Amino acid sequence: MAQASVIRILPEAVANKIAAGEVVERPASVVKELMENSVDAGGERVEVAVEAGGKRLVRVVDDGCGMTHDDALLAFERHSTSKIRSAEDLFQISTLGFRGEALPSIAAVSRLELETRHASESSGTRVEVAGGRLRDVKEIAWSRGTRVEVRDLFFNTPARRKFLKSESTELGHIATLVTHYALAHFQKSFRLTSLTNEILNVSPVASARERVYQVMGHQLLEQLVEISPVERRMSAALAAETAEEGEQPEEPGVVRVSGFVSRPEVQKLNRNQIYFFVNRRLVRDRLILHAITEAYRNILPASVFPVALVFLELPAAEVDVNVHPSKTEVRFRRAAFLHDLVRDSIRQALVAARPVAAFPMPKASRAPSPDLDEAEAAERISEEPPLLRGAEVHVPRSVPAAPRGTRDFQLSSPRPAPETGTLPLEGAALSVYEPSVPFPPTTVEREGEVAPAGSGVSEFPADLHPLGQVQDSFIVATNAEGLWIIDQHVAHERVLFERHLRQRREKKVEGQRLLLPIIVGLTPQQLAAFQDIAEELDANGFEVEPFGQRTVAVKTSPAEIRADEVERLLLEILESVGREAHGLSLDDLRLKIATSVACHAAIKVNMPLERKKMEWLLRELGKTECPMSCPHGRPIVLRYGLKEIEKAFKRT
Ligand code: ADP
Ligand code: MG
Repeated sequence: MAQASVIRILPEAVANKIAAGEVVERPASVVKELMENSVDAGGERVEVAVEAGGKRLVRVVDDGCGMTHDDALLAFERHSTSKIRSAEDLFQISTLGFRGEALPSIAAVSRLELETRHASESSGTRVEVAGGRLRDVKEIAWSRGTRVEVRDLFFNTPARRKFLKSESTELGHIATLVTHYALAHFQKSFRLTSLTNEILNVSPVASARERVYQVMGHQLLEQLVEISPVERRMSAALAAETAEEGEQPEEPGVVRVSGFVSRPEVQKLNRNQIYFFVNRRLVRDRLILHAITEAYRNILPASVFPVALVFLELPAAEVDVNVHPSKTEVRFRRAAFLHDLVRDSIRQALVAARPVAAFPMPKASRAPSPDLDEAEAAERISEEPPLLRGAEVHVPRSVPAAPRGTRDFQLSSPRPAPETGTLPLEGAALSVYEPSVPFPPTTVEREGEVAPAGSGVSEFPADLHPLGQVQDSFIVATNAEGLWIIDQHVAHERVLFERHLRQRREKKVEGQRLLLPIIVGLTPQQLAAFQDIAEELDANGFEVEPFGQRTVAVKTSPAEIRADEVERLLLEILESVGREAHGLSLDDLRLKIATSVACHAAIKVNMPLERKKMEWLLRELGKTECPMSCPHGRPIVLRYGLKEIEKAFKRT
């Protein structure tokens, strides 16, 4: 006898609960799906209200197109959507939603109430669904738009409920999310309230810059550099590469990059402040994350992260958003092209904005010292302004709805106000200078460029006049713009670093023969690292030969390295390479070597310098690509602008 079939098709209710597992992870996912629906519906105002971190209630109200009675019911069927019709449409998605899964998924794990009206009908509709079951449908009086209330999330899936974090953490996620949607959709108004607080309230503005100002205030805006919009045509060659055989070569699309990234002195302990939007959809993407990190290479130390808000607009056909049910992942057709474009656009913005450090240094900008304990790190993070702070850390008690007023600069101020982490030196960090050097090779213009949108290019001043040194360590200089303080060691380090890298790129770096070979003992790990990189060391001005079992003899070292530094330099390089072993690319290896060589060859602190030497150093620094931070990411230059000086003396 044939065995009874054991495979069965799951009832709709079960299928919805399964889908809910992917779509609805936490209250913030509900907020995200509902906000996306409001934006897709053409809403100009999106209002979000939450209670208990969204666990008890999430309510989203919009003034969009609304739904007819029939559509309001259909919307709760799985895979019901008004946004696509056929499989081909999947490659031309211009809305945020398209899977038709959000409403049924949310309704499967909550008590949901929908009120809506479409312009074509005279009355509105109220639909109530609980745990995926339709409870009630009513005709109601309703002016326009849609209101969705989601109560008691996961009430019927206690296991999931247990995974939720504290109310403040969940609220933090929601606040971060709404804030970032508000940043991406600056022409709309957004409001977020909890029972006790208005967390965000912004009206429509004309540019992303104004929106950043609205939500973050001008002091935070000053810590950011704007990526002046870059538009590129995806080159024809690339299009041909990806086109299927026999396919008509299509008109290559135009891609546009814009956004904001932090100045190098802003250093975060995690990636929580890196946000990336593709066609105004917030996504997570490792490739772009990599591009952003690359842009900061040798500007920021490897262990810290910038703040970034990057917007990418490109033809819908260039990106596949149907990768994950929560739609937070995407796949690009021309991934490598976009990676390089994002990296170069950011790099260009950073180079154009140098030098950066205002005077005095913002508190939040210090690099985390390795001995910083966790409690201190947490305290430091919690002192950061709410919106630049990781959502996991704390909930913003309140986010200023309007930009804060500037306070006067006070010399007696014991330390920067913790609220903002920087002294309000108005405009200090925003001054723009003219360029003296071409952009780094990574940003060379490519073929197929449409229009390099206007860019505010700038430079390190060429007319600095050194006055002397503080503690034989910091050069004090002036020009018409104000007072400058330059850390002599890191300044020289930057100069040597770029020179060494440049020489290495062109050819083998010549070293300088030592009077006597220096014998260096190695541990087994160091010896292994040495064998791995011996050839590259040779090309970097070293001549090192095996000498005995675990010793080597250094006969030549890079010029500028004093004999008594040679051993430490070699060991440092081997150590830094050793830990990463074979994973290191040749590029990375060269950077590491150049960083170490520059550090050991640079003039030290506590060293008196003649005026000529100071002048030389400032001149050379001005010629570097990144005069604002050393290869380890520390700031090089502080500036105290004339305006601030006058203000401090109450002369304005
Ligand atoms: P999707 O957004 O993927 O289409 P959803 O389940 O989120 O799927 O929504 C289903 C449908 O309900 C949408 O396609 C849309 O037609 C309608 N809808 C949902 N929310 C709104 C809203 N706020 N305003 C107007 N229509 C809405
Ligand atoms: Mg949707």
